[in-house]
Amino acid sequence: MALQIVHHPDYDAGFAVNHRFPMSKYPLLMEALRSRGLTVSEALSMPEPAPAAWLKLAHAADYVDQVLACEVPEKIEREIGFPVGRRVSLRAQLAAAGTVLAARLALKHGIACNAAGGSHHARRAQGAGFCTFNDVAVASLALLDERAVENVLVVDLDVHQGDGTADILKDVPRAFTFSMHGERNYPARKIASDLDIALPDGTGDAAYLDRLRAILPELCAIRRWDIVFYNAGVDVHAGDRLGRLAVSDDGLRSREAMVISHFRMAGIPLCGVIGGGYSTDVPALAARHAILFEVAAAYA
Ligand SMILES: [Zn+2]
Repeated sequence: MALQIVHHPDYDAGFAVNHRFPMSKYPLLMEALRSRGLTVSEALSMPEPAPAAWLKLAHAADYVDQVLACEVPEKIEREIGFPVGRRVSLRAQLAAAGTVLAARLALKHGIACNAAGGSHHARRAQGAGFCTFNDVAVASLALLDERAVENVLVVDLDVHQGDGTADILKDVPRAFTFSMHGERNYPARKIASDLDIALPDGTGDAAYLDRLRAILPELCAIRRWDIVFYNAGVDVHAGDRLGRLAVSDDGLRSREAMVISHFRMAGIPLCGVIGGGYSTDVPALAARHAILFEVAAAYA
């Protein structure tokens, strides 16, 4: 079977090429997936913008209204890292809906990936750290709300700690948040996940994969999960501008195989989101994000 992939051309909000946030990675990722034969039209879906009601499950109603009206206070825009104009607002609504859609497809097909998402620094009150809406938190709460699932696991392997997801889901007993990240990286003030593993600068493939291998069975032993959201941020890569770990391409591929095979062997549906990745060589960055899809396709 072909891998179910969720995408929208407006995931790309069209930032200048020299912007600190490499927005062009979204269309380049789709190009990379196309050139690898991973985009099969019957298995390609496009989201509609998320309804405000979904967004308000995860975020303060006044903040959601501000984003939808493109009237986010400047102080919050500075924390996000860019102004929230029409295209950024639309992109955030699409990415959140894309993760909801990918989660539904994962429940149906076992595995699906959103070619965006992983905006894990957006907290209940507001966005931050290049994240406007927290798509994984929105999708977790939307699926729980409609009783599509009873127990949700978030596995966040982006190099930055998943503070926003932890904040939004901390009082949701049926959602469990796990973050493995670089200890000395953003955010300076971390919000505790249900389980955090902080890694020292320079952690390479072997130590990184050893920690992961040891924790996966523990995560599965907590409860019977109905779905796992996997944030496969590639900013753990040695070549990343913001990461401080030293994971190689092979290490990334082993990581994706370890996570995906673990949950799929256990029969747990997996919804992948791409998370962070920062490099001035955007084609190389897109190729790193493509690894998630290459590995996921083998389990579709
Ligand atoms: Zn990150």
